[in-house]
Order: sequence, then structure tokens, then C-alpha cells
Amino acid sequence: MEDTIFSKIIRREVPAQIVYEDEHTLAFLDAHPINPGHTLVVPKKAVRNIFDVDPETFSLTLESVRKVAKALQEALSADGINIHINNEAPAGQAVFHLHIHVIPRYVSDGFKHWQGRTYSSGESEKIADKIRQAFA
Ligand code: 5GP
Repeated sequence: MEDTIFSKIIRREVPAQIVYEDEHTLAFLDAHPINPGHTLVVPKKAVRNIFDVDPETFSLTLESVRKVAKALQEALSADGINIHINNEAPAGQAVFHLHIHVIPRYVSDGFKHWQGRTYSSGESEKIADKIRQAFA
């Protein structure tokens, strides 16, 4: 896998505001936060994204996300938290080392969620069938 800026942060070759670390994961402030305290949680193991991460690494990373979310709620009085992963460029991934965004949210921050669309008649059944077949 290519060396990314996040591997360099993990190795302390590039500075970052590290807020939490354990044996398997690191959490540091996003350089361009959506709200102050926006944190990225990464596994120390170099994996690209949701498609190649092994279950154990993903579980350990999610447990750190849980801890970081609680810390942001407490330290920054967040009213809510968004947890978000971009996987591959069309989904917005810019750094190809798995990272989970943990974003403090406030009643008054003004951000809107994506607009949902509506299924046409019979469409949801076809889509769900396709997805179920991927598990078979
Ligand atoms: P993505 O779009 O890949 O999900 O998000 C990458 C995130 O990494 C962006 O929110 C961006 O602001 C953040 N980022 C990119 N380069 C650096 C960096 O060098 N240091 C830190 N702390 N964050 C970075």
C-alpha cells in the first residue's frame, strides 16, 4: 500500500494534534475541521478503507471512535456527533488510509443532512434482492 500522510502522522514524521492513542489506533484533529474538534481515528495498521480492512482492525478502530465521541461530547459540550467514513474517491476519500471522521455537532451549527430521494414502484424490491444476493 502507498505511504500516506496519515502513516507519516502515525510515525510522528508529520505533526498533528493527537488527542488519543492506544496500541492499535491513533486519533488526531482534522486539519480542516467541519466544526472545531473534528477528529480522525485511524488504525495504525496501513489499510486503505472499508473494502480491505480486517474485522479485528475495524473493531479496534470503532472502539476508539466510541471513546473519542464520548470525549468530544464531554470536552466540547457537543449536542450530537456524526461518524463518517469515505471509501474510494467517488465517495469523497482523499487520503487512502482508513480513517473515521468523528464530528461534533451543535443545535445551531446550521449543517443540513443529504436530501433523501424516493423509490419508484418495485425499485426497492429489486435493489434489496441484488444486495441479498451479495451475501449468498
Ligand atoms: P477524506 O476526504 O479522505 O475522508 O478525508 C481526509 C481528511 O483528512 C480531510 O478532512 C482533511 O482535512 C484531512 N487531512 C488531510 N491532510 C491532513 C493532514 O496533513 N493533517 C491532518 N490533521 N488532517 C489532514
